[in-house]
Amino acid sequence: MVVILKRNTSKEQTQEIIHWLKELGNIEVNPIYGEHTTILGLVGDTSALDINRVNSNPHIENVKRIQEPYKRANRKFHPLDTVVEVSGRKFGGTELQVIAGPCSVETEEQIIEVAQKVKESGATLLRGGAFKPRTSPYSFQGLGEDGLTLLLKAKKATGMPIVTEIMNINHLPLFEDVDVIQVGARNMQNFEMLKELGKIDKPILLKRGLANTIEEFLMSAEYIMSGGNEKVILCERGIRTFETQTRNTLDISAVPLLKNLSHLPVIVDPSHASGLPWLVEPLSKAAIAAGADGVMIEVHNNPPKALSDGAQSLRPSEFDVIMKKLEKLAEFEGKTIG
Ligand code: PEP
Ligand code: MN
Repeated sequence: MVVILKRNTSKEQTQEIIHWLKELGNIEVNPIYGEHTTILGLVGDTSALDINRVNSNPHIENVKRIQEPYKRANRKFHPLDTVVEVSGRKFGGTELQVIAGPCSVETEEQIIEVAQKVKESGATLLRGGAFKPRTSPYSFQGLGEDGLTLLLKAKKATGMPIVTEIMNINHLPLFEDVDVIQVGARNMQNFEMLKELGKIDKPILLKRGLANTIEEFLMSAEYIMSGGNEKVILCERGIRTFETQTRNTLDISAVPLLKNLSHLPVIVDPSHASGLPWLVEPLSKAAIAAGADGVMIEVHNNPPKALSDGAQSLRPSEFDVIMKKLEKLAEFEGKTIG
């Protein structure tokens, strides 16, 4: 339920209303102070609340029930875009972020070389997997803790914030210096993990599950947010369809849909969505044109020798060409990269 207050309601009156609403039922009240109006987001069991009674308060303009099962992630709850800031880089608003880097961290030379090259081309954050979710137990599983150490070295060498995936919540203490924690597609509905990530104060990059609906995706964001962590960045990374030409099918309509249903920033991963390096450019452009707040692109210094996802990875020189085009497109959209 959302309660919209009248324009001239004072801070003291607002506090009194919050107190009054809390006494009416077993609910939590989240105030959102806008420039002109204050909105109170009510979560919990609001079914017992009498809408007419709430409406009778002279300082209340309007009361609306939120039908969708996701509340905190809902745009009705929070009409303005949420901006998630990572070391001065903003996800949401008029900035676009480009996260680039290899699928997996492999060696110190590899991650530092890729980090320096993508930074020179204008990437704003560095990605690299240390704990890898692989379909086969016989495939490279990532360097684990050593991979995180190398990623932190690359962060130190370049000053780029880092994004890396968590696979086991017991590893959380290792992620202390990681700037953005990724929850991969395969863990989008690992609810126990989402609950724990809701208790920390770090941005979470939540990737859409391979076969999950938009509502399920937003409910996973809700798990994190209901614990108190509102710093959630959504990532559309392609879904399973009958099509076999691409690794997944990029659901481009998910971008405007998510932006419409939710206030959270949305980015697109064209590398995992397509599995094909030559599709990264058109899909990145499509993402930005559709209103995405950024893209995440796999770049490897030697794709044929990559230990994971080499087939979809761009060479740094190819990434450089794409970045120049994305900068122009960003300008056309009235945005800037970084
Ligand atoms: C990744 O980003 O490295 C990854 C494994 O992606 P996804 O979870 O989308 O498959
Ligand atoms: Mn990958």
